[in-house]
Amino acid sequence: MGGHRRRQKRFLDRSSCSSSLNFVTMMLVLCFLLFFWTGICLADGKQPNATHHHSSFTPINHDLYHTSGALLEEIEGLVDRHPDKLSIETISSKNKGYQAKMNVVTYCREKKECDGKSKLRILLSFGQHGRELITSELALRILSILSEEEFLPNTDRRSLNNTLDKLVIKVVPMENINGRRLVESGEFCERRNGRGVDLNRNWSVDWGKKEKDYDPYEENPGTAPFSEPETQVMRKLSMSFEPHIWVNVHSGMEALFMPYDHKNTTPEGAPSQRMRSILEKLNHLHLGDRCLIGSGGGSVGYLAHGTATDYMYDVVRVPMAFTFEIYGDTAASSKDCFKMFNPMDITTFNKVLNDWSAAFFAMFRLGALQVEDGLLHPGGVAAGSSMNKWISIDDYLNGYLMERRNRYGKKMEVLDLGMQEIRTYFRLFMLSSVLLMFMFCSRISKKNTRPIVTAISL
Ligand SMILES: [Zn+2]
Repeated sequence: MGGHRRRQKRFLDRSSCSSSLNFVTMMLVLCFLLFFWTGICLADGKQPNATHHHSSFTPINHDLYHTSGALLEEIEGLVDRHPDKLSIETISSKNKGYQAKMNVVTYCREKKECDGKSKLRILLSFGQHGRELITSELALRILSILSEEEFLPNTDRRSLNNTLDKLVIKVVPMENINGRRLVESGEFCERRNGRGVDLNRNWSVDWGKKEKDYDPYEENPGTAPFSEPETQVMRKLSMSFEPHIWVNVHSGMEALFMPYDHKNTTPEGAPSQRMRSILEKLNHLHLGDRCLIGSGGGSVGYLAHGTATDYMYDVVRVPMAFTFEIYGDTAASSKDCFKMFNPMDITTFNKVLNDWSAAFFAMFRLGALQVEDGLLHPGGVAAGSSMNKWISIDDYLNGYLMERRNRYGKKMEVLDLGMQEIRTYFRLFMLSSVLLMFMFCSRISKKNTRPIVTAISL
């Protein structure tokens, strides 16, 4: 009897011990589940608490500004009329049911020399932020001048053509067409893409770091570097084109920025000095010395992490990587977004387009001069940047592998899994490992119970 009771007690002890073991395992599993769940939830890229600054302030003046559809039609018209100089391609990419389309216009006089890498390559992106419509108007103006339908004042066309013969220019007129459509539907403060991610925080250099004044409505970096189709397209484009000059065109202030955005210093050395000297010349010649010049991080008043220009400089190794801020109305109310980021009257509108198109063509000329002086090398990659720069594992995966893949053609297409997918698979793998461990442990604890009880009862 007593033995039985003792046996019973021991059995209970044992079982309570094993159940407390199970409890701990359960809690661990729950913690993991919670951890993964939050991760997966964030993968939607939507911020439930984001406040929508839908305002009834100044609307878009369509006497000055094209709709995105009309702008695209204008550009396609230019390409149709000038097939000897211009071509257009549409690249689309998709991620979790979200699709982004992007038009890329390539300018090259004398088409036969355009594929060989004998020219200076320039990549320009406009409209990365939805609300900055003026930037895409500048893209149209630059393309019109390139196709000789419009002319730069005080410029000798022959010497201009002499410069343009040495260049291939790729223009992305509307990088963030989905975000722009939101703006056109009345969300005048929207700068992010069609699912709420800031495309200038979605790149891998120092990605995801948040400053104290971080506002998810403005700066949501996405679930991972390159989580957004728009960023993926731009990365591929830059990796295959290997530009010597990159300009990310924005509005909100008047500034000529060079790296870095994620820290308040500029890179050291002569190539960095050359970047600065080009910016100083543009500012003096065409922008009335109005622009702030320096590192984005040091001049704008806040650090920005995961930006396109820092990636272009550090990973793609573009020797001249810039961010131009072409217009800003600092007196406008911060809720009156369209007014803050875009000129409202025709005089200012035209002045912005005249001044900045002149600045861009001056930059083309200065770039071509650097080739003549042997400071930029059309054949090689990024002559200015040192090759022994440290590359983080993340950048290695994100950029370096892609770069190899692009160099060797389509052979390694299988590797075209974004970091996003790799992370998801890793999560699933971890989750299943934990579940397996849990099942294994509970098995063992059951197995252990029986022999001990049996031993006592015998
Ligand atoms: Zn912007």
